[in-house]
Amino acid sequence: MDCLICRINDGSEPAPHGLLYCDDLWVVRHMPPPYALAGWFILQTRRHCPELAEFTDAEAASFGPMLRRCERAVREATGAARIYTGSLGEKVRHFHCHMVPRYEPAPQGALGWETFGLERRAAAGEFHVEAAEVDRVVRAFMARLTAG
Ligand SMILES: [Zn+2]
Repeated sequence: MDCLICRINDGSEPAPHGLLYCDDLWVVRHMPPPYALAGWFILQTRRHCPELAEFTDAEAASFGPMLRRCERAVREATGAARIYTGSLGEKVRHFHCHMVPRYEPAPQGALGWETFGLERRAAAGEFHVEAAEVDRVVRAFMARLTAG
């Protein structure tokens, strides 16, 4: 079985900014370029697990606390008005949860579900987010995640 997220987790596929957090159950990383938003992070299962319905008891018990910890760090690192949370698994069937800052004002005017389309629009070259801004937010996220 070839799975992009399994390759990211085992280090055979590079993750821009690296693996920001790893434990026995979870891995956290930032979305790769082209960047749609600074601070669009991913929380993914360490083991290959297609979706939340297949979580082990340990994954199910720790998902909420881990998501809360990460999203607090995203909020503090970005100053976003809200953090959107979503998991679809259409491109890669390995559980991963998008943690997406909803800035005020909304970049590109994208609100709600449109925010998730920013990835495609950035890839099409409609706009771009500076890598230096992503680096700054990743550093701030890491400082807050490790502090709390
Ligand atoms: Zn996998």
